[in-house]
Amino acid sequence: MPELPEIETIVRQLNRYILNKEIIKINIYDEKVVDKKIKDLVPTKINKIFRRGKSIILELNNDRYLLVHLRMTGHFHYLDNLNNLDNLNNLNNFDQNYGPYRFKKYMVSRFDFSDGSFLTHNSIRKFGGIKFFNKEGLQENLSKLGIEPLDDGFTLQSFKEILTKKLTMNVKSLLMDQGIIVGIGNIYAQEILYLSGISPLRKVSSLSSSEIRKLYEDLRKILKSAIKHQGSTVDNYSNLEGKGNFQNYHNVYNKVVCKMGHKLIKVVINGRGTTYCPDCHK
Ligand SMILES: [Zn+2]
Repeated sequence: MPELPEIETIVRQLNRYILNKEIIKINIYDEKVVDKKIKDLVPTKINKIFRRGKSIILELNNDRYLLVHLRMTGHFHYLDNLNNLDNLNNLNNFDQNYGPYRFKKYMVSRFDFSDGSFLTHNSIRKFGGIKFFNKEGLQENLSKLGIEPLDDGFTLQSFKEILTKKLTMNVKSLLMDQGIIVGIGNIYAQEILYLSGISPLRKVSSLSSSEIRKLYEDLRKILKSAIKHQGSTVDNYSNLEGKGNFQNYHNVYNKVVCKMGHKLIKVVINGRGTTYCPDCHK
């Protein structure tokens, strides 16, 4: 499931490829995944593309918004002309960066732009999708989300204040709670805790102030580094330009031994598989 670094990567690429383009047609191939109302929004311009937590938001004319959740298997592909569309379905053009996920049979919607380019939206397992909102609806939808960990407003002091209110919570569950801090899921929570040397089994109340500082710093360090590497490709994530690279820098996620050569232990915390090192984590 894409987390903050993967979604941020896609948002930056969408800004490069489709910002300020005029959408002349929206084709919907699966109305369970993509809200059919958005067909009537065209023609319209894409005025802004941004991220909030793990959501992508496209701002169109007249304060209308598309809220995109890619979830497990959603992908965007940009193509600069319609002739390339047939390539999507051509096995001879199998692109190992994308795997089979770019094929037409997984397409749930397609945005056609006035300059002849287009964006396809593919989804294999049909989780997530695109919903339409006006300004108030969007604000309402996003209002339950917690703080953005890479924003300037997320300071060590604000992190401490958050922790003070959640003392009885498990530290990994806290990192992953989208109502508290957004964007961190099962992969990055494990990697952050490994870097901080904090066991995912611990409660917030047990953290010392030096551990809190380390956790705050490592959290931002891991997310920034993952963005630099265009996210992690596990399962089938791909961004508009191919796979991410940060999986090569994972220390514990999907690993059997840590980088120090210790055997890792796998447990379930809050329903999620969690790997940690009994030697490196305290
Ligand atoms: Zn270790």
